[in-house]
Amino acid sequence: MKKTISKSEAKKQVEEFFNEIKNKPPHKIKKIKRLAMAYNLPLKEKRKLFCKKCLNPYKAPRIRIKNKMKFVECGNCGGISRWRL
Ligand SMILES: [Zn+2]
Repeated sequence: MKKTISKSEAKKQVEEFFNEIKNKPPHKIKKIKRLAMAYNLPLKEKRKLFCKKCLNPYKAPRIRIKNKMKFVECGNCGGISRWRL
């Protein structure tokens, strides 16, 4: 069964998902990322809520700030993400 939903519907799903991202497993995050991409929804700040390496939501990440860059270390895989402040 192929389900087609409207863009606003997809957006709602993505928003709701990210409200509870801390309880989500990586494969769900992968799925919602694909949904967002399929509907051309920018994730923007939401991308900072999970590790792009292992796709686990950040639970207790180690955060360091240096040279106007924010370094977030994933507590799961140790992958480091850098964000410009
Ligand atoms: Zn990770």
